Amino acid sequence: MAKQEDLFKNVVSHAKEYGFIFPSSEVYDGLSAVYDYAQNGVELKNNIRQYWWKAMVQMHENIVGLDAAILMHPTTWKASGHVDAFNDPLIDNKDSKKRYRADVLIEDYAEKLNQKAEKEIEKARARYGEAFNEQEFVTTNARVMEYKSRNREILERMGRSLGNNDLEDVKALIEELEIADPETGSRNWTDVKQFNLMFGTKLGASADNAMDLYLRPETAQGIFVNFLNVQKSGRMKVPFGIAQTGKAFRNEIVARQFIFRMREFEQMEMQFFVRPGEEMKWYDYWKQTRLNWHLSLGLGVTNYRFHDHEKLAHYANAAADIEFNFPFGFKELEGIHSRTDFDLKAHEQYSGRKLQYFDPELNENYVPYVVETSVGLDRMFLAVFSTSLKEETLEDGSTRTVLALPSVLAPTKAAVLPLIKRDGLPELAQKIVDDLKWDFNMAYDEKDAVGRRYRRQDALGTPFCITVDHQTLEDQTVTIRHRDSMKQDRVAIASLRQIIDSEVNMRHWLMKM
Ligand code: ATP
Repeated sequence: MAKQEDLFKNVVSHAKEYGFIFPSSEVYDGLSAVYDYAQNGVELKNNIRQYWWKAMVQMHENIVGLDAAILMHPTTWKASGHVDAFNDPLIDNKDSKKRYRADVLIEDYAEKLNQKAEKEIEKARARYGEAFNEQEFVTTNARVMEYKSRNREILERMGRSLGNNDLEDVKALIEELEIADPETGSRNWTDVKQFNLMFGTKLGASADNAMDLYLRPETAQGIFVNFLNVQKSGRMKVPFGIAQTGKAFRNEIVARQFIFRMREFEQMEMQFFVRPGEEMKWYDYWKQTRLNWHLSLGLGVTNYRFHDHEKLAHYANAAADIEFNFPFGFKELEGIHSRTDFDLKAHEQYSGRKLQYFDPELNENYVPYVVETSVGLDRMFLAVFSTSLKEETLEDGSTRTVLALPSVLAPTKAAVLPLIKRDGLPELAQKIVDDLKWDFNMAYDEKDAVGRRYRRQDALGTPFCITVDHQTLEDQTVTIRHRDSMKQDRVAIASLRQIIDSEVNMRHWLMKM
């Protein structure tokens, strides 16, 4: 555990030291759970967004983009259910005065049972070797069955109580399970209360007739209210999707895991409109397609798992998370939700306008069903960044820090380094940068010994370093060094564009989907 915590601390300090992420308004000691993306962070974030946009919008003829405003008519949030139901159950510890999400305390307890079961399975696998039959073991081993069934019972009961808004039972469950404050061990809890997560603001200059608004807590509603505009102006045929990326705001009760849980964050969402009755087919399709997108980045198959929801949101008839193995364990990275016709019907009801589609093949009107994919851009950043950050011991016993980012996402694709600062090498190096910067984000660095410059680019995640030396003046060749293997090749300047492109081009990565 200590090791995991160290890893996480490293992630946070590396992000700051190398210009990826700073705490917001740091000169005033920061603002809780709000962060700024720095010079390299903004490039990485933009690249992740583009990778998503390419895969979701530009590679699908039946998905189009949208950029709806953050501020929306307040009735939107009444219709969507956010005013009444966008709550988290909070609980305070009377001794420590610390505040927690009651559902998270219970989920963490249930996850521990799950981990115990997994440990038993791993032990048995080691004992039986090749002959191990996991399926049989899980269904016959008394201990594993007990852990798994308790895990299920607890989550089901919590799902029921939250669904019925029975907060007393949520508290009773915490007491029965003897869950203690994770920081102090105290079991002296207050009652569980609901807390609305939306930020309120006002529109209008005078206090008397100002209109109460909310900062959007999700981007999805901008898509729903524009459903018919897009369908008509784009002559879209069901099934089709509308995608957008943008800021969302939630007044999170507990926000202390760096950019995992922020109060201002960015979502990348796609709403896919389908015929009623066909939603489960599309739900399964998008679950798999989205997982494949994640896997295409090569961060490791074992870092992902699905978690099917017991507790469904008010709008959903099926929901699953793609969880990622963050430095603090498996947590939600993306949600796939079958949202039924809840949102469009609610907007019909509140607006008095029809939000229906005429299906020429069926010759009938209906309110489409919706399957949503929703991934946090900041969580994607954290997943990519934390998994890529490595401390390596080299053959000569020295160590290096390398940010082995998928090269398609790397902020800078190549750095050009003149071996020394004279003899015309800087000018030639700059010329190479000027030529390649039309196609790639490039860097030029002439400070310090070349070995130190390599290390710096390794820590920034730059896939290639190109070194210009005296031989370059004679034969127009340079050395190109690969970040991960540290291998160096002598190549012609004229071939650089093609070498870099073959490794960072989105096509090459997305083809793996
Ligand atoms: P959680 O259970 O972690 O609070 P959620 O289920 O409320 O998340 P959704 O409403 O499904 O999240 O939002 C979709 C995605 O938006 C999430 O999968 C996550 O990646 C991202 N997201 C949600 N809340 C935050 C936040 N506070 N900070 C950063 N990203 C977030």
